[in-house]
Amino acid sequence: ANSIVLACGGIGGIFKNSTNYESLQGDALSICLHHHVELENIDYIQIHPTTLYSTKKGRRFLLSESLRGEGARLLNIHGKRFVNELLPRDLLTDKINEQMRIDHSDHVFLDLTPIGETALRTHFPHICSRCQEEGYDVFHEPIPVVPAQHYFMGGIKIDLSGKTSMKDLYACGETSCSNVHGRNRLASNSLLESLVFAKKAAEDIMFSQFEPKALLPFTMKKIYQDTSKLMQDYQDELWSEIERWKLIHERNNIEA
Ligand SMILES: Cc1cc2nc3c(=O)[nH]c(=O)nc-3n(C[C@H](O)[C@H](O)[C@H](O)COP(=O)(O)OP(=O)(O)OC[C@H]3O[C@@H](n4cnc5c(N)ncnc54)[C@H](O)[C@@H]3O)c2cc1C
Repeated sequence: ANSIVLACGGIGGIFKNSTNYESLQGDALSICLHHHVELENIDYIQIHPTTLYSTKKGRRFLLSESLRGEGARLLNIHGKRFVNELLPRDLLTDKINEQMRIDHSDHVFLDLTPIGETALRTHFPHICSRCQEEGYDVFHEPIPVVPAQHYFMGGIKIDLSGKTSMKDLYACGETSCSNVHGRNRLASNSLLESLVFAKKAAEDIMFSQFEPKALLPFTMKKIYQDTSKLMQDYQDELWSEIERWKLIHERNNIEA
C-alpha cells in the first residue's frame, strides 16, 4: 500500500484485569518495535480503580466514578472505610492496591447503599442489572471491586497529522501517542485520539503526492505460521519495552 494506518486500539489484553477486550494486545506496537518506528511514553497506562471483581475470563465490568461521586464508599475486606473515594484515578488505584496488599486480598468492596435504591435504579440501571446478573444485591450489600487496566495514553509516536516516524505510516486512536492526554487521561475524552487524528491522517493521505508503487508478490512470511508463538513474542517484547520506559521516567523524575 502507498499508505498504512495503524488503528489497533489499546493494550488491555496483556493484563490479568482489564476493561478492554482480550484481542487488544498492542500488536501494532510490537510491529513498530521490530521496524524501529518510534514509540512514546508506553508506560503511561491508566488503571481504573473500580471494576467488578471476577475470576471469570474476559474483560472486567467498569463501575463508573459517578457512583463514588454520588456517595458510594470503598471498604476493606473487614468492612472498614479506608480512603477518600474522590481521589483521582491513579492515586485511588494506589490506595486500593496498598489496602489489598495489607489485607492479602485480591479485591476490596464498594458499598453502593449510601446512594439509595431509587437513585441507583434511576441513575445506574445498567450497573444494577449487571451486578444482579453476577449474583450481587447492590441495594443491600457491598460488591467486590478491583482496579483494572483501562486506557493506554502512550503508544506509537505521531505528529499532528497522525504521521509516525516512518514515511507513509500513520497511527490513530488508542494505539497512538499524540500526547493530548498526558500521563493520566481524564474521563470521556478518548474519542479525540480516534476521531480527530483519524481525520487528520485521512486528509494528509488524500492530499499527499505519492508515486504509485509497484505491487510486490505476497508471500506468507515464516513468522505468521505459528501465530500463538508470534503473539507471545509480541507480548514479551512489549512488556520489556514498557519496563524500559518506566525506568527512564523514574530516573528522569529522580534527576528532576
Ligand atoms: C468499558 C470502557 C468504557 C469506555 N468509556 C469511554 C467513554 O465514556 N468515553 C470515551 O471517550 N472513551 C471511553 N472508552 C475508551 C474508548 O472506547 C477507546 O479508547 C476507543 O474505543 C479506542 O478506539 P480505537 O479505534 O483506537 O480502538 P478500538 O475501538 O479498540 O479498535 C481497535 C480494533 O483493532 C482490532 N485489532 C487489534 N489488533 C489487531 C490485529 N493485530 N489485527 C487486526 N485487527 C486488530 C481490534 O479487534 C479492534 O477492532 C472506554 C473504554 C472501555 C473499555
